[in-house]
Amino acid sequence: MMIRFAIIPLLLALNFSMCKRHESAANGSQPATSSPAAAAVSPAASPPKITKAVVDQTAQTIIFCYHRLVDKIRYPGTEITPADFEAQMKQLKDAGITVISMQDLLAWRRGEKNIPPRCAVVSFDDGWKSQYEVAWPIMKKFGYPFTMFIYTEGVRGGSLGGGEAITWEQLADMRDNGVDIEAHTATHQDLREGHNIMLAAPGGKRTRTKLTGAEYEQWVRNEVVGSKELLEQRLGIKVNCFAVPFGNYNEHVKELARNAGYEAMFTVYGQPITFTSPLDSLGRYAIEANKPKVFVDAVKMIGTSSGGAAAVAEVGAGDLSTQPADGSTVRTALPLIKANLGRVGGIEPGSVQMRVSGLGVVPVSYDPKSGTVSYQVTQKLRGNSCTVIVSAKAEGKKVEAHWTFGIDATAAAAPISAAARSTPTPKK
Ligand SMILES: [Zn+2]
Repeated sequence: MMIRFAIIPLLLALNFSMCKRHESAANGSQPATSSPAAAAVSPAASPPKITKAVVDQTAQTIIFCYHRLVDKIRYPGTEITPADFEAQMKQLKDAGITVISMQDLLAWRRGEKNIPPRCAVVSFDDGWKSQYEVAWPIMKKFGYPFTMFIYTEGVRGGSLGGGEAITWEQLADMRDNGVDIEAHTATHQDLREGHNIMLAAPGGKRTRTKLTGAEYEQWVRNEVVGSKELLEQRLGIKVNCFAVPFGNYNEHVKELARNAGYEAMFTVYGQPITFTSPLDSLGRYAIEANKPKVFVDAVKMIGTSSGGAAAVAEVGAGDLSTQPADGSTVRTALPLIKANLGRVGGIEPGSVQMRVSGLGVVPVSYDPKSGTVSYQVTQKLRGNSCTVIVSAKAEGKKVEAHWTFGIDATAAAAPISAAARSTPTPKK
């Protein structure tokens, strides 16, 4: 996993250090093997348009949901022993599954950050003190990030928080140490209109009731929006995730949550999360002491999912300073086709391949120093557009970029000398 991981900081660094790289290119600190490419990335010529990081859209993530960690199981539906929990965390590691943070998962979905091909997110629901006292030290041992889904009235001192509940001070401690804290309503009940709920009066007296109309709207607003605001104010954090109690919700609740600024909503119907999973119903695997198979099956689901086709990381053509540029039109049927893989990093030189529509695989020249891959078309391209696919192995993983340029038919018969003039050959 080290190798796979290595590509991520690298790619991020590339995105965040674009300006520096331009400077160094302009200063000539990079090998001056590809002057057109250098010109193309120079801020003066045309500002680079990197809209997205290199994101592996084939990656998958399983999300786990745990409750209490106790030595003696009394409620197997929501409890697990610390030993079993630790064994499961180890199994993830042994299975080559990378535990990532919820925020990294969402950044990946936004196309901002890559994640390894097989990931897990670990979350704890409700806010029990055993999550602070028992689970957290175990997570620290593995160096795993995690998320706490808190229902605010359940925190000790709230109307429902008892001696087993986590405290605001403990949550603040977790926050200070990078633990992600997210919302799980105010009172942890069925959020759908007309369903049985318990209302706690200020005196502590609880009554069972069904709310409808304006009363319901006021109540559900506090559950969905009020709980988020309370967490944000009490802890000085940004809350963008919402775990629905029991997975019971509907379109109205989803809309409320979306309007409140939640980016993702979670249920307890476990399934591997893909690049296209709907963000308003991300399924988590709820791990129960009496159903160890749920964990085993979840790991199997993701274990086999990447067993087929190798993961391919899509690289934006703009990131590669392609020539001719994506969407541009050339006036020759014999263009020089180029891309710079220098920004991808870790390219295995023998693995670089270029396909050109109408020609198939072409014999490219690749300069490992500059990362430039090029092919001078020698056989006239037919038609008025051409698609190029450049692929390579980087850090043991396949990366691929596609782009298409147009060919101006009226000038398509131009001799090769014209082609050479319009696309200057790089000086070595
Ligand atoms: Zn819960």
